[in-house]
Amino acid sequence: MLKDNLLSVKENIEDAAKKAGRDVNDITLIAVSKTKPVEMIKEIYDLGVRDFGENKVQELVAKYDLLPDDIKWHLIGHLQTNKVKYIIDKVYMIHSVDSVKLAKEISKEAVKRGITVNILIEVNVAGEESKYGVSPDELTETVKEVAALPGICIRGLMTVAPYVVDSEENRTIFVKMKQFVVDIIQKNINNVYMDCLSMGMSGDYTVAVEEGATYIRVGTSIFGERNYK
Ligand SMILES: *Cc1c(COP(=O)(O)O)cnc(C)c1O
Repeated sequence: MLKDNLLSVKENIEDAAKKAGRDVNDITLIAVSKTKPVEMIKEIYDLGVRDFGENKVQELVAKYDLLPDDIKWHLIGHLQTNKVKYIIDKVYMIHSVDSVKLAKEISKEAVKRGITVNILIEVNVAGEESKYGVSPDELTETVKEVAALPGICIRGLMTVAPYVVDSEENRTIFVKMKQFVVDIIQKNINNVYMDCLSMGMSGDYTVAVEEGATYIRVGTSIFGERNYK
C-alpha cells in the first residue's frame, strides 16, 4: 500500500514537471514521516527514498538513532533555540528558520562543532497569524543578517501555505515565493545561494512543482492520515 502511494506521488510529480517544462531531477520529494513508526519509514527507505522530514526535535533524534545513516533528515517544524544543539549535527537541512535569533543560535552551535549548516528562511507569505515565518516585508533584511553569520549557508526559502480544499488557491502564494527567490538572487548577497525552494504538501504539491518548488514535503499522501492520539 505504501508502495502504491509513493508511486502515485512520484507519477504526479513527473506529470507536473513535464507540464511546466521542468527537469524532474530538480525536484526532491521529502517524505514527511512525523508520527509514523520506523517500520513504515524503513519501507519507504527500501523503495529508494532518502530524504525524510520531521517537525519535532525529540522525534527526529529518536528515529535518527534507529534508521540508516545515509538518510537526509530535514527539520521542517518550528525550532526552539534551546533545542538546536540536539539536532545540529543530525540534520541535512533546517527548513524552518523563522528569526534572526534562531539563526544566531544555529550559527553559535555550528561554529562550536566546526560545521556549516544548510538552512532555509521560512516565509509567512499569506500573513497567517497561526503560522511561523518572517513576513515578506522583513525578508530581505533577515536574509542579509543571517547570511553574515558564520557556520550557516542560506540555501533558499520555505513556506507552509494555507490549508485549502482547492490547490489552485495556493498558486499565487507559490508564484510569490518563486519571485522572492528571483529578487534575492538579484541582490547578490554573499553566502546566499537560493538554489532551494521548499513548498507544497499533500494537498497542493503538484501546483508547487509547476511553480518552481525544488523540495516538496509530502506526508499524508505517502503514509496515510496521522493519528495524534
Ligand atoms: C506535516 C507537514 C507537512 C506534510 O503535510 P501533509 O499534508 O501530510 O503532506 C509538510 N510540511 C510541514 C511543515 C509539515 O509540518
